[in-house]
Amino acid sequence: MEIKENKNNLRNNIIKKTKGELFKCFNCGTCSAGCPVSQISNFNPRKLLRKIILGINLDEDISACVSCYTCNARCPNGINIPKIIDVLKIKYNLEGVENRGSIFNKSFLSTVEKNGRLYEVGMLLKYKMKSGNLLQDVEFGLPLILKGRMGIFPHKSKNAKAAKEIFRKVREIDERG
Ligand code: SF4
Ligand code: SF4
Repeated sequence: MEIKENKNNLRNNIIKKTKGELFKCFNCGTCSAGCPVSQISNFNPRKLLRKIILGINLDEDISACVSCYTCNARCPNGINIPKIIDVLKIKYNLEGVENRGSIFNKSFLSTVEKNGRLYEVGMLLKYKMKSGNLLQDVEFGLPLILKGRMGIFPHKSKNAKAAKEIFRKVREIDERG
């Protein structure tokens, strides 16, 4: 997927949200060498950073990043690449472009926001309905439910209100930019 429009806005947005961290990159490639997704696809965090710095159109599948933070842990400059990728993921979502990664994230977070903890069955149903994969992997899910490893009904955390408040505050901070 290519982001062509408002390249400068996007670049400025990333610079602002990450306090210009990406300019510390000296292009050593340690992040890509450790990235598990780079091992199995052409997704490459070093190249991604370079393209952002140079203002080149992005055509990477950002959703491939699994936010494992290996790149961040290994980067000699401690650059928070997953945070930069998060800004891009949010950008995709704001433009209404949804991919399986963003659908999964939203489904996960919406159950945490509602219940103060993860509700696996609810999350999976939301994800499956939105991604159109309703029956895929059903053979793995059903035994987990039948063996009681996943509850059919949600269990609200006693701190559900506090969790909701955290989500509200994060949205508020995000809107402020
Ligand atoms: S956080 Fe994303 S970019 Fe960084 S190592 Fe993990 S998958 Fe790769
Ligand atoms: S490891 Fe850090 S400095 Fe090296 S290319 Fe990746 S982001 Fe840049």
